[in-house]
Amino acid sequence: MPLDIIRRLLTPILDPVPTSRYPSVAPLLQPATRGLPEVDLTACRQDGACIDVCPTGAIELAADDRAADAHADADADASAGSSRAWSVDAGKCIFCGACAIACPNAAIRMSSRVELAATDRAALVERGGASEPSPDAERLRSGIAGRFGRSLHVRHLDTGSCNGCDWEIAALLNPYHDLQRFGIDFVASPRHADLLLVTGVMTANLAEAARRTYEAMPEPRLVVAVGACAISGGVFAGAPGCANGVAGELPVDVFVPGCPPRPEALIEGMLTAIETRRAGPRAGASTGQDELRGRARTGSVEW
Ligand code: SF4
Ligand code: SF4
Repeated sequence: MPLDIIRRLLTPILDPVPTSRYPSVAPLLQPATRGLPEVDLTACRQDGACIDVCPTGAIELAADDRAADAHADADADASAGSSRAWSVDAGKCIFCGACAIACPNAAIRMSSRVELAATDRAALVERGGASEPSPDAERLRSGIAGRFGRSLHVRHLDTGSCNGCDWEIAALLNPYHDLQRFGIDFVASPRHADLLLVTGVMTANLAEAARRTYEAMPEPRLVVAVGACAISGGVFAGAPGCANGVAGELPVDVFVPGCPPRPEALIEGMLTAIETRRAGPRAGASTGQDELRGRARTGSVEW
C-alpha cells in the first residue's frame, strides 16, 4: 500500500483535528495537483509548440537577451534562433498542462505552485522564479484585527462564471479550511461587506449589478478578482458580451490566479488584500484602478 494512503488512513488517529493549519504550514496538495507551468530555458528550442496548444494565449515568446544567454551556455545550435524569452501569464493560465504535453523538448513542467496572488496585474506575467513565502496565520489575524476590528465580512459576487471558482469559495467554509477560524465570514448584503470576492468574466448584463454592489459597500472596501475568468476572461476571453475580466469595471486590489484557484490561494489573496489596504492606497497602479475607484465613488463611471 502506498505510503501516502497509509498516512491518510492514520491521520484521524495521529491528528484528530481535521482543520488545515494553512497558512502556518504549506498547502496539503495531491501529487497530481497542477500549478503554474515552468520552463527550462536551456532545453527550450522556442519552436512555439506550447503557444499553438495554449487555449488562453497565456504563453509568449518575446524579444529578450536573457533567453539568448541561456542558450549560449547550453547549446550553440539552439541559440542561433533564440533571441526570444518564454513567459507565461498566470492571469490567463488555466493550469491545463497542454503546453507541457506538447513541448517536443520536454522543456516545460507543471509546477505545484498555486499561491500566486498579486496586487499588480503585470506582476502575474512570468512568475516562474522562486515561489513567494506563504503568509503566516498571525499576520492574517493581526491584519484583520488592525483594520477590520477582528472580523472581515465578505460578499461573493458571480459575474458570469462556470461555477468552478464558486465551488472553491464554498469549500472555504468546510471543516477542513474553516475560514471562520480567521474571523472571516460571508454576508448576504454588500452593505455589511468589507471585501468583494468577484468570480466570472464580467458579462455585459452583470456590469451594472457589480457597480451597484460595489457602491453599496462601506469604506474601507476591498475587491479581489478570483480566477482566470475574473482576471483576463480565461477561456471565454473575446466572447460576445464578455468584458475579459473585472478590472475594467471594478477597482481590483488583488488578483488570484487559477481555474479555479485552490482554497489556500483564496486565503492568500484575502490576506494580500488586507495587507495592501493597511499600507494605504497603491501608488502608480498600472491599471488605473485607483482612478476607477474614485470615479465609482462619485458615480461618474460609465458602465
Ligand atoms: S497550462 Fe494550459 S493554459 Fe497554462 S500556459 Fe500551459 S497550455 Fe496555456
Ligand atoms: S476561472 Fe475557470 S473555474 Fe473559474 S469561472 Fe472561469 S472557467 Fe470556471
